[in-house]
Order: sequence, then C-alpha cells, then structure tokens
Amino acid sequence: MIMKVSQSNKLNRAKRFCETNKYRFTEPRERVLSLLLSRHEPLGAYQILKLLSSKQAKIKPPTVYRAIDFWKKNGFIHRIESMNAYIACCEHKHHQNFCIFICNQCNKVSELTLETLSQSITNIIKDKSIVITRSTTELFGSCFECNR
Ligand SMILES: [Zn+2]
Ligand SMILES: [Zn+2]
Repeated sequence: MIMKVSQSNKLNRAKRFCETNKYRFTEPRERVLSLLLSRHEPLGAYQILKLLSSKQAKIKPPTVYRAIDFWKKNGFIHRIESMNAYIACCEHKHHQNFCIFICNQCNKVSELTLETLSQSITNIIKDKSIVITRSTTELFGSCFECNR
C-alpha cells in the first residue's frame, strides 16, 4: 500500500514536471514511466515494449523508445549502461548524476545516493576545465539479502 502511494506520487511529480516545462504528458510516456515505477528490476527497451504491448492495445516500438528517451533525458529513469536496461529514479527530484548498485547474485538493482562522491569527481574535473553533464557509477557486489 505504501509502495502504491509513493508510486503515484512519483507519477504525479512527473506529470507536474511536464506541465511546468510545457511538455506533453502523453499516454505512452505515462505507461512507460508507470511500468518502470512498478517494477523493482531493470528492464530493457524491448522488455518494456513487450510488457506494454501484451497488456493493452498495441504500441509502436518508436513510440516506446521515444518515451524512454524522454524520461531518461529528464532524469526520471536511468540507463544502466552495463545491462543496457532502465530503472526508475528513486530520488525526489530529477538529476543527471547517479550511482547504481547491482547485485551479482540476484541481479537486484538499487540506486545509491553518493552526492559526495560525484561532488569530488566534479571538483577534480573542474581543475581540468572539463564540464560534466551526466555521470553513471555502477557498483557490483552482493546485496544485503544475498549476504545473509
Ligand atoms: Zn536517480
Ligand atoms: Zn542479491
């Protein structure tokens, strides 16, 4: 129940984000984001397409891919480079720098808040006059459940 509330909160936040920035909160965008919010596992673009197609009316691949791109660009979902898959962001505001933990044993993925780490990277890079617009940190290991 608690999960459901926070899930719809996140969807509402995304909706408000669209309104504020004059983006359209289209049905495909809504369906892609709700799907990722309801799953706690990374999904590839093809899996997202398949899951959305089987449930309701057919949805065209470019429509789904564009919706994924839109949420990714705006920081609501993250692409896990090493898995070529996507997860919904667990943060309360959209952001472009994130850190993901992937369990080698059960494949569970969670987002970690490591602001200080990305901050220190940013500082190092500032000295070299490089501008970072996006960063991904992927950490691998075994999760709490698998360690028991
Ligand atoms: Zn995030
Ligand atoms: Zn695990």
